[in-house]
Amino acid sequence: MSKLLLHNTRTGRKEPFEPIVPGRAGVYSCGPTVYAPQHLGNLRPYLFADLLRRTLEEEGYEVTHVINVTDVGHLVGDGDDGEDKIEAAAAKSGRSALEIAAMYTEQWLRDRRAINVRDPDVLCRATDHIPEQIELARRLEEKGFTYRIDDGIYFDVSRFPRYAEFAGLDLAAQVDHGRIDEVGGKRNPADFAIWKFAAEGVSRQQEWDSPWGVGFPGWHLECSAMSVKYLGEHFDIHTGGVDHVRVHHTNEIAQTECAMDVHPWVNVWMHNEFIDFQGAKISKSTGGGAVLQDLVDDGLEPLAFRYFLLQAHYRQQQTYTREVVEAAATGYRRLLALAAEVRDAAGEGDAAAQSDYRERFRDAMRDDLNAPKALAVAWEVARGREELAPGDRRALLLEFDRFLGLDLVQADAPGERFESDPRIDGLLAERQQARADKDFATADRIRDELAAEGVEIVDTPEGPRWRRK
Ligand code: AMP
Ligand code: ZN
Repeated sequence: MSKLLLHNTRTGRKEPFEPIVPGRAGVYSCGPTVYAPQHLGNLRPYLFADLLRRTLEEEGYEVTHVINVTDVGHLVGDGDDGEDKIEAAAAKSGRSALEIAAMYTEQWLRDRRAINVRDPDVLCRATDHIPEQIELARRLEEKGFTYRIDDGIYFDVSRFPRYAEFAGLDLAAQVDHGRIDEVGGKRNPADFAIWKFAAEGVSRQQEWDSPWGVGFPGWHLECSAMSVKYLGEHFDIHTGGVDHVRVHHTNEIAQTECAMDVHPWVNVWMHNEFIDFQGAKISKSTGGGAVLQDLVDDGLEPLAFRYFLLQAHYRQQQTYTREVVEAAATGYRRLLALAAEVRDAAGEGDAAAQSDYRERFRDAMRDDLNAPKALAVAWEVARGREELAPGDRRALLLEFDRFLGLDLVQADAPGERFESDPRIDGLLAERQQARADKDFATADRIRDELAAEGVEIVDTPEGPRWRRK
């Protein structure tokens, strides 16, 4: 049996996972900034963290998973400049900051659940942890790591010699090549805000009293304060999108290691790559990135999107196009149809017949969460009518699904629930022809007309079918 290997950004290597407390794993994942709908790309970090959590549990660890919700302090500019994203969205929409945050937190939770991403053990909001953030800032001030300028309290990165290490930054180049530094008075371009004062003449909805005056915490502070609160001053794994490495996580490390006198603060740092939307503006409802509901409106099941995400390793960039996601949906439905063949098979099967598949599947997941490789083993089992008895296929698919979360076996097989009607069948055929001709406008028009009647189109291995919503 192989060991669980995880790629650690901190060391640049895949390493065997060594828990701090035997049998336990503390995991913190950077969560969403809830000022706008969470688009399809935003779901990738949480699917990745979900795979990590499921795999750790399957390896026998008791996992505590903490995720934050950023509902204050994340500014438009990386250099601690510009508007607060939540305040800006509130001002634009005429809603309160609280309403904006609640609305998009709800959407994020709904979409996560729709793709079978489990809820964390602790879901913590930045605005619920202001005292903890002030306490961390106070510690940093006491130890001499901060200084005050007109606009707030800043962390002096020159006081932390390891600052550039984590992301391999070239700090000298930031000075020489004049990284545009919008906040006047900072000592070093990379210095970052711990506490910001509300700008003169700007009335904010979210601000708090502090030892330094009324204001709000810098964005990075919340993740340090809340992860330490729930997981301790030294914990196992911290995850996030690869965009966080250079600024957000670098700053989290600087402030926490200095405040707590700990190194390394977090043993394993894991980062997912991005989804490349190839510049596509595919959302009808938001004008931003497409959201899960857009796919559902197009007749795709949310879990088809989970399947799409599982097709790429989390450290690979993944390309999203309409064709690719539709192909993934077709693949997912085929897999479901094969799994449905054994849904009612009796018994646990024969452990000896299963063991090679089980080991290869689990080895793939143990190898830095190689979901595409694991998925290939699931396909072998699903197709393996000749090699495996129905009971073995059923037992293996149920077990694999504890990692994959695709509702294999349990879900209704596609094709079982569809309806027939000459008029609607005809429209479906017309839409199919339009798609074959790449006339997506006509295809979309037909889909929208049918949707208005409450008819949902589903692509199956036998072609498109429909049902009433
Ligand atoms: P935000 O809510 O804007 O803070 O975004 C949450 C996280 O989603 C970001 O920090 C990124 O790590 C991640 N993210 C944003 N866009 C993409 C994308 N296209 N692919 C994968 N992850 C993304
Ligand atoms: Zn964070």
